[in-house]
Amino acid sequence: MSYFGEIYTGAVSLIAGLGVTGKALFQPTVTVQYPWETIDITPTFRGHIELVTDEETGNFKCICCGLCQLNCPSHCISIKSSKPEGAKKKALDSYMLNFTTCSLCGTCVEGCPADAIKFSDDYNLAGFSREEFYFDLVKRAREEK
Ligand code: SF4
Ligand code: SF4
Repeated sequence: MSYFGEIYTGAVSLIAGLGVTGKALFQPTVTVQYPWETIDITPTFRGHIELVTDEETGNFKCICCGLCQLNCPSHCISIKSSKPEGAKKKALDSYMLNFTTCSLCGTCVEGCPADAIKFSDDYNLAGFSREEFYFDLVKRAREEK
């Protein structure tokens, strides 16, 4: 390409680039100053799973059937339950989730017969080690109360 040809191509590309910048300048702002500002999470967002509590009794809806643990394709759920003396139902002792291997596939949520688990809207997860992503959902839910 000739010298003047290169100048012409450069000028055209500069004007095209400035055009894109100029257009963006007058469009509505779609970004926020995270973490100082946050936006509402879409209802379809899938964070790690969490236990659902019965609004009337305040207890976990989980009936300790173990289906979620059995069906999880990533083997990342491990539950422990016990039946206190005199009680009619089992109660959850711990609900361990290994979030490092969870693929957020939803099999556990969809297959739960008691609608006892759901996806959280927790997008703000960070840690320094894998162990920080092994959650006891029972403990986590109690701490949030
Ligand atoms: S499938 Fe539902 S009710 Fe059964 S153990 Fe899992 S969370 Fe609890
Ligand atoms: S979302 Fe899928 S991978 Fe994650 S815990 Fe549930 S069944 Fe397992």
